Amino acid sequence: MAGPDRYRRQTVLPEIGAKGQRALGSSRVAIVGLGALGSVSSDLLVRAGVGRVRLVDRDVVELVNLQRQTLYSEADVETPKAEAAARRLQSVNAAVRVEAVPRDVHSGTVREILADIDAIIDGTDNLETRFLLNEAAMDRGIPLVYGGAIATYGMVFAIRSPETACFRCFNPNAPPPGSLPTCETAGIFNAVSAEVGAIQAGEAIRVLVGQAPSGDLLVIDGWRPEIQRIHLARRRDCAACGRGEREYLGARRSQVLASICGSDTISLDPIRSGTIDLDGLGRRLEALGSARRAGGVLLVDVEGRRLTVFADGRALIRGVKDETEARAVYAKYVGI
Ligand SMILES: [Zn+2]
Repeated sequence: MAGPDRYRRQTVLPEIGAKGQRALGSSRVAIVGLGALGSVSSDLLVRAGVGRVRLVDRDVVELVNLQRQTLYSEADVETPKAEAAARRLQSVNAAVRVEAVPRDVHSGTVREILADIDAIIDGTDNLETRFLLNEAAMDRGIPLVYGGAIATYGMVFAIRSPETACFRCFNPNAPPPGSLPTCETAGIFNAVSAEVGAIQAGEAIRVLVGQAPSGDLLVIDGWRPEIQRIHLARRRDCAACGRGEREYLGARRSQVLASICGSDTISLDPIRSGTIDLDGLGRRLEALGSARRAGGVLLVDVEGRRLTVFADGRALIRGVKDETEARAVYAKYVGI
């Protein structure tokens, strides 16, 4: 429903006004990662009237997500998050162009996925994708609003390089895999993930209506609660914004395998992908186990593993111990 009054509770704010509203209406924002943070930030941006919102997530909804991922309901379990989120958000605001992108963001896909985007909201759960988004945002000169939450704490940092420090200035060295706590091992307080998502949406709106990013890292203690502001300076020796290296954007692989935060699920993207006939594949796999459609994916249960196959050839493989086993399972049942 359009109508001149829809946004009046925010156009009356001197910080936004009619001019800011027009700027929001002509903006294109990508939310990468539609978990707890992305649920809240995408909801607020769609309600605020951002013209085009691209919803990117490689995962499907699980029951354990519903404690904090506010876009989803029990009926969405096992369906791709990007599709469930798009359905929900399009019903919230039909005037916004909402796009579902159920794909994995990596060096082979990031440029295409973010091609015409004005700002990126980080809702991911891993440093590797954040370093990649940092390099992609830097090359395009567009803002990236980082967010993270774990246990009862959260952080937000609105980045626009070179005006501010970049994400690599803040994290010069990637810690080895497995050394950081995950939401599975440390837990997550749903109030703090909602706070982080809301602050990210606020930072994105501020930048889209023309304010410069502050360059400050916001550290949120969600339990007490309290917010601290820490200014981050650019590092002259930063690999990304200082020396201009593109370590993550430049990575070239024939397949991209990624573990899904804190679970025994691996995402496999064959890169050289085409469109798969999911119904035909389902009929072939029926003989080996059970196969059924759920939204835009095919769910296959075979030999104690769950495969979620997307139409572009990507698959989530649950119940495997490592990437080698994931590759073998994919080759055996889907084929490369
Ligand atoms: Zn930097």
